[in-house]
Amino acid sequence: MEMPDPDRGVLARSARIVARLAAVLPEDAVISDPLETRAYECDALTAYRCPPLAAILPSSTAEVAAALRVCHEEGVKVVPRGAGTSLAGGALPTADSVILGLARMTAVLEIDTADRVIRVQAGRTNLSVSGAVAEHDFFYAPDPSSQLACAIGGNIAMNSGGAHCLKYGVTTNNLLGVTMVTMAGEVIEIGGAHLDPAGLDLLGLICGSEGQLGVVTEATLRILRKPEGARPVLIGYDSSEVAGACVSDIIKAGVLPVAIEFMDRPCIRATDDFSGAGYPDCEALLIVEVEGSEDEIAEQLGLILQIARRHDPVELREASDADEAARIWLGRKAAFGAMGQLGDYICLDGTIPVSSLPLVLRRIGELGAEYGHRVANVFHAGDGNMHPLILFDANAPGQLASAEALGAEILKLCVEVGGCLTGEHGVGIEKRDLMSVQYAPADLEAQMAVKDVFDPGWLLNPAKVFPLDASSAHRVAAE
Ligand SMILES: Cc1cc2nc3c(=O)[nH]c(=O)nc-3n(C[C@H](O)[C@H](O)[C@H](O)COP(=O)(O)OP(=O)(O)OC[C@H]3O[C@@H](n4cnc5c(N)ncnc54)[C@H](O)[C@@H]3O)c2cc1C
Repeated sequence: MEMPDPDRGVLARSARIVARLAAVLPEDAVISDPLETRAYECDALTAYRCPPLAAILPSSTAEVAAALRVCHEEGVKVVPRGAGTSLAGGALPTADSVILGLARMTAVLEIDTADRVIRVQAGRTNLSVSGAVAEHDFFYAPDPSSQLACAIGGNIAMNSGGAHCLKYGVTTNNLLGVTMVTMAGEVIEIGGAHLDPAGLDLLGLICGSEGQLGVVTEATLRILRKPEGARPVLIGYDSSEVAGACVSDIIKAGVLPVAIEFMDRPCIRATDDFSGAGYPDCEALLIVEVEGSEDEIAEQLGLILQIARRHDPVELREASDADEAARIWLGRKAAFGAMGQLGDYICLDGTIPVSSLPLVLRRIGELGAEYGHRVANVFHAGDGNMHPLILFDANAPGQLASAEALGAEILKLCVEVGGCLTGEHGVGIEKRDLMSVQYAPADLEAQMAVKDVFDPGWLLNPAKVFPLDASSAHRVAAE
């Protein structure tokens, strides 16, 4: 992975920069000891590592603004960081950058159940947002599998999704407003506790901007009433393509389950061994969950089971109580941990039109065989968000490179069938060089012109999202 050379001037001034940051932040909020900055050298894309010049842990919007003003004056690059669970290398530092960690900003600022909103600091974990409103029978819908650890600021930066986003939408559909600090240290308010603010839709621009435009410090989020009930059904098939066709038919029929999750044989076996979920011995497994009153659940499940039966399932398992429902989800929820036991893997994140699932699943199998890598599939099938996991051995020379080359082929295939490079994990460094597969030079220029406006010095989250050759003129002009 090519990264620009570190700025020697900044490295030479590092002691002064750290001293200036220490002057505007509490003493324990500035970390510059190389033994401690190592904790920030990577995110969940662990193949790439680089300790930052320093890490800072502000506790308020005012502290974030003060620190950014220092970095702006010193011309120091800044990498915002939530919990560091990015699978795309979004929070990877460079040697001449400061990590701005939001981990101390976890407060709930306001809960308003009458208007169904919650306002939190951006370092609060996703799951603990739902936790904060559970006693009122509310929840926050976007549910990344990493929700125990990942932070709302990271979710906003990556426009994260999860299993239940088929019905409720991803982060952008549940975000009402943000407080954001620009690289120059200016605090701006975008959106608020209401729908459809006047003027340009800047909130839509910020959500998914991967830390390129500003540092989000607070977020106003939509919360929802918990549904009356929910029930999953497990459907097993003897072919991944047939399971893909079943998903396509369910969506075509106009039923809207809350989730449709897919696992193929390698994933079923690994998760079953790991979790003891008791999954059937089959090629592909779907978990379809519906929500509502007893009558609504019965009606939706009736239609789903009718469609499933048309494709000759080898297993149909309906949950009759909460224990059985939890058992159906058990393996799926443990999938990423379980796959880690099989070896190193790269987790891809392409999105495709649901009707292309059978074709794409077949091509992924063929491409895996061509490149000599095992590929396991576990993904949010209902919205076509694929997560092929490419297995490789990080200690075997050349294996990472060939796994990455296979990953690039699979993502190109997603674009070819009318999909896109990323459904929810973001571009980061992982897909940076593939952006020109999806976008024409003029499209990329339009996106980079937005970056020019918010961050004219190109100091925020360096070397991510935009291919280095495409962004070089902007970066040179910014110097
Ligand atoms: C096991 C596992 C399962 C996962 N499952 C899912 C899933 O189901 N769905 C999904 O969408 N993702 C998933 N992810 C990916 C990851 O959890 C998400 O991308 C998540 O939103 C990242 O949040 P974070 O707080 O860890 O952000 P980080 O990894 O710290 O940062 C991610 C990006 O956001 C930027 N950023 C962070 N905070 C801010 C801020 N306050 N202001 C501006 N920019 C900021 C960073 O610069 C970086 O570019 C998974 C990851 C793992 C390891």
